[in-house]
Amino acid sequence: MNLADFALRSITSGTIYPLDELRYRDDDGSLLEVINRSMASLNPDKLKKTFTQRLQNMSGPDASGVWRYRELVLPLPDHQIVTKPEGNTNLYAVGADERSGYRRIGSYAGIHELYLKHEGENPTGSFKDRGMTTGTSIATRLGATAVACASTGNTSAALASYGAQAGMKTFVFIPDGKISWGKLSQAIAYGACTIKIKGDFDQAMKLVEEVCTTMNIYLLNSVNPFRIEGQKTIAVELLQQLDWKVPDWIVLPAGNLGNTSAIGKGLRELYEIGIIDRLPRIASIQASGANPFYQSYQAGFQDLSPVSAETIATAIRIGNPVSFLKAKQVIEETNGVVEHVTEQEIIDAKVQIDAAGIGCEPASAATIAGAKKLVSDGVIPPSDRVVGILTGHLLKDPDTTIKYHTAELDGIQSEHATKIIAAEPTLAAVQNSIEQALSN
Ligand SMILES: *Cc1c(COP(=O)(O)O)cnc(C)c1O
Repeated sequence: MNLADFALRSITSGTIYPLDELRYRDDDGSLLEVINRSMASLNPDKLKKTFTQRLQNMSGPDASGVWRYRELVLPLPDHQIVTKPEGNTNLYAVGADERSGYRRIGSYAGIHELYLKHEGENPTGSFKDRGMTTGTSIATRLGATAVACASTGNTSAALASYGAQAGMKTFVFIPDGKISWGKLSQAIAYGACTIKIKGDFDQAMKLVEEVCTTMNIYLLNSVNPFRIEGQKTIAVELLQQLDWKVPDWIVLPAGNLGNTSAIGKGLRELYEIGIIDRLPRIASIQASGANPFYQSYQAGFQDLSPVSAETIATAIRIGNPVSFLKAKQVIEETNGVVEHVTEQEIIDAKVQIDAAGIGCEPASAATIAGAKKLVSDGVIPPSDRVVGILTGHLLKDPDTTIKYHTAELDGIQSEHATKIIAAEPTLAAVQNSIEQALSN
């Protein structure tokens, strides 16, 4: 395995650039992807054995759910790797047939064999850590001293944290007023210079790219192809957890479409190497108020028309997704689908995931809302084996959770609210409240 076999390639023209060239796009503006020209020489059985053996190591890159798979990611020298480590997230068996309290989620979605991979269990609380470990490692390799991104929240939290670890100056561009406190508090606490743009995410995204190319700051948005390389390990790790037995479906929320692209690329490569013998179908789920990918899919994948995005699921509140072409290819080659779900469906699914004791932020719940809809529409048969990705942690957006349970979310029915009981500070009053609760 040789780093010299890795390069950057334009996804449209196929033009190849050296791995260490500082560029994010082809000359015509197309995105780049990382390729490994010696992939065909990888031995699937040997690799699986290596990945299993590395599970014994509790420190260093082997302990990371990203770098454990470095032959598939980037075989960087250890001193260039910035890792916490990350990944190693739980895969919860939540199917209707399971015998745990988790099975209510499977019953809700109508799926017998369902798993949830909780990427909110990463160090900063979302899957963005997987892309940021590779992103800041490459930044280290290139000698960057400052890094930047635009973000609906989780990318900025991850960038601020990994940038701090690597000793870099960090800049995050956030859309004014449309970011949850959990995420913003992480970015400022980790020391990022936070620039509030009086505009939406899509405007912040355009600006940060211009700033980075004109001011010699390394760009770590998902246009950066190395972030995709880290994120694709979600697919690798979940397959290792399933003992390489391919599920029928992988369902995930979709905003900027980096994660759909990444998981698809991971699967495609596992298939090409021969580690898996078929591809799961991918279902990308959007919020109906931020659904440009869904609309394009409905129209036979015509060119994407940007929309003005609005949804309670702020992590997917994106109207002009950067990775559209990559994600389109993933849906096409996995015989996948794109679905959209309403605000009420997202919140109702979140309430189910939360009440099972697992929990997630609103955007992540689009996964279960979408799976439920696809089952009831007959697209996913109830007997299929399904893995859903929970992308972010419950504590990322406590406001939405509290407002649901106090019935203060505009336009949302709080049918399953858990009430907070007020009681006088006497034994009798508290006993009375508990008796009432027990009889309910
Ligand atoms: C970033 C993010 C998404 C959306 O992923 P994309 O790659 O932008 O499609 C979904 N959920 C959470 C919690 C996120 O942080």
